[in-house]
This record gives sequence, structure tokens and C-alpha cells, in this order.
Amino acid sequence: MFNKSTSFIFVKGHYYKFRKYSFLAVLFILFSLPWLLNLYFSKMSPKLYILMINPGFLKIIPLVLIILGCLLYLLTVRKGRYWCGFLCPQTIGVFVTQAIENKLKKIIRRKIASYWQKLCYDILLFIILFSLSIITSLHILGLFYPIYHLLFFFTDHAYEIFLIIFFLAILIYILSSHLKTKFCQYICPYARFQSIMISDKTQVVYFDHSRVNLTDGKNDCIDCKMCIKVCPTRIDIREGFQQNCINCGACVDACNKVMKNIKKPIDLIKYASVNQSTKSFQNKGVYSAIVIVLIASIFIGLTVSNQKQIEIFIQNDRNTQTVNQNHEFIKNFYKIKYVNNTKEDLDLVLTSSAHQLILKGHTHFKLVKGASIELPIMAIAKYKDLKMKQFEFYFKFDVSGKTYIKKAKFLSN
Ligand code: SF4
Ligand code: SF4
Repeated sequence: MFNKSTSFIFVKGHYYKFRKYSFLAVLFILFSLPWLLNLYFSKMSPKLYILMINPGFLKIIPLVLIILGCLLYLLTVRKGRYWCGFLCPQTIGVFVTQAIENKLKKIIRRKIASYWQKLCYDILLFIILFSLSIITSLHILGLFYPIYHLLFFFTDHAYEIFLIIFFLAILIYILSSHLKTKFCQYICPYARFQSIMISDKTQVVYFDHSRVNLTDGKNDCIDCKMCIKVCPTRIDIREGFQQNCINCGACVDACNKVMKNIKKPIDLIKYASVNQSTKSFQNKGVYSAIVIVLIASIFIGLTVSNQKQIEIFIQNDRNTQTVNQNHEFIKNFYKIKYVNNTKEDLDLVLTSSAHQLILKGHTHFKLVKGASIELPIMAIAKYKDLKMKQFEFYFKFDVSGKTYIKKAKFLSN
């Protein structure tokens, strides 16, 4: 069960601490955000959060992605694969899995000897890792759908949701427990692109070859191989910078500890640019990234400032047919989406301009501040009152003293 080729050990040090805090920050965001979203949207009916998001903000999502892309580019130009080593969820999954495996391996060495005990250990490891995968999967899905409803299957689609959580958990389990950093080496697209973003000025994890000169017998490296044992990608950084290095700094900590033990100067392995410059900046690339970020920020500012205070969208409900009941009544169904961009709750009253129509559904309600909500409405007419197969009319929305008019169509067959 142990995958020797991808297993590694931990050595404490400066970058170990840094990694621990950055991992905790990412995990805190991942595990608290779904609950905060659940709290924020608790007054609305459970549906995909993405559909509740204010349409005005949906417009700026591509720009936000451009900015995030530029920031990642800037980080890579300056610091190499810092994202991979300290922030990437895949790396976090791999390190957490390895920490659990290492803890259980200690127990196995001390207490477990027989085949059956070893089997129990394998099963226990699977149960722990798969349970964590299910919890993670639940929270990832909780970014899109109220987590409270997911947790207790308070939904009409319990079976489908169970399957999504289950298969996502299998994927997370395979990625973090079996593929591990092989995902970073062979599948991750960012890893493929990072080689074109870095140069000899980018800070990467670097082995100081000047301290190993075999001609005059000077060699600070004692070949203890600790730098390989702690490496999640199992590479030997002494062979020079390698594309598979995720810049996690584990080998820096391990080697510094060895150097301290043998009373030699630390930083035989360190973060530095290949030309040893501490100020790594590829000016051209960085300036263009800054300009792109600025332009995208201006667009976002303009989009947000041009947002209407109240936005209303009407749609004939295609899932529900026009109903003709015994040639007595005709019913039409509509979905109306309301977005309240103001900072206060507003009273909304809905009426229609057509005297022959009666509206049923949400005609009087409070539109909560900042809410984006979709509500159904039914328009009913007596068959004998209809002179045409279809006609246009207006929905009238009285929102705390202001009136909004929207055109709609009534169909009788
Ligand atoms: S940990 Fe340091 S001393 Fe040990 S093999 Fe690696 S580079 Fe050499
Ligand atoms: S070589 Fe060092 S920094 Fe690179 S992945 Fe291995 S341990 Fe991390």
C-alpha cells in the first residue's frame, strides 16, 4: 500500500513553518467560506449560489480571472513556483495525506507485525483519507449550493447530490493519496507554462555549487540525501534547477538542519536566482502585467459604478406549459429575477396592466438588500375574456415608491 516512490518525510524549519501557516489559511478559507455563504444566502430558496450572484458581478468575473492570472504570472516571474509550494490545494492535499501516512507508519513500526495487523492499518488509512476526501468534497460543493442542505440532504436532488459528492471525493482521494505530485509533474497545465515565465533572474530553489569543488577537496555536501528524502517530487536538487521542483523549500530546511548539525554555514540549498541575484525582476513582463491589472481594474470599477439600483428580468417559464383548464381558465407562468443593488430592504408590489389578468404568487414581498432572487408568478385569465390567441401586457413593479415597467406576453394556446 505504501507508495515508496512518492512518500517523503518532514523536517521542521523556516519554510516548514511558512508552509504550515499558508496551508492553514487556505484550509480556513475552504472550510469556512461555504458556511459564510450559507449564512449570507439563508433567506433565499436553496439553489446554485452562482445563479444568485448579482448579474452585474457576473459581468466582471472574466476581468477578475484576468487579474488573478496576472498576479499568478507576477508571482511566478519573481518567485518561481511559490503558488505550487505554498498555496496550491493539490500540494496541500499531498502534504496532509503524507503527514497522516507518516504518523500511521510510526504506529505500524512499533505495534503492527502480522499480515492482519498490516491489513487493518491499510483499511484504517483508507477510511481516514476517504473520510477527509468526503468532507473536502462536501465543502467544495458548498461553494455552489447551501452546505446545510447538502449535509442533511434537504433537497429534491438528494441522490444526484450524493453521487456528485461521492465521485468528487474519489477524485480528491486519488489525486492526494495516489497521484500525489505526479499530478504536478504530468497533468497540471500551470506546471507546463511556468517554464516560459521564469528566467535566470527568477528566485528558485538553488544548490550552491560553489561550495562543492572536488578539485580542491572542498565539499560541504556530506551526501546524507536528506534533501531527497524530504522532497515531495523525489528529485535531487544538487543536479541543478529542475522543472519538477515545486519550490516548497523542504530541501532548504532539511539541508540547513544538516549544516547546523555538522557546524557548517547554512544555505547550501537556498532560494536564489540562478545568477545569485536577490532582486529578481523581469521588468518588461512585470510592467505589462501591471498595465493589464490596471486596465482590468478600471473596467471593473466602471462596470460596478454603472450598475442599476434595481434590476428585474422576466422569463416565460419554459418548463411549464400554458394551461387551458376545461376551456374556462388559461394560466401562464413566468420566472422573475430581482436584484437589489441598494443598501436597504425594499417593499415590492407587483401588478399587471391587463385588467383581465389575475396574478398569483409572490406579488407582495420584501426584497432584501444585496439579494439576487428568482421567484415564479402565475397569470390567470378567463377564457371568455380573451379576444386574441396572444397579447402583450406590462408587469408593473412598485418598489418602495419607485415604479418599474416590464413588457411580457400572454399566450392562450
Ligand atoms: S541535505 Fe544537504 S548535505 Fe545532505 S545531501 Fe542534500 S545537499 Fe548534501
Ligand atoms: S527540490 Fe526542494 S523545493 Fe523542490 S520540490 Fe523538492 S523539496 Fe521542494
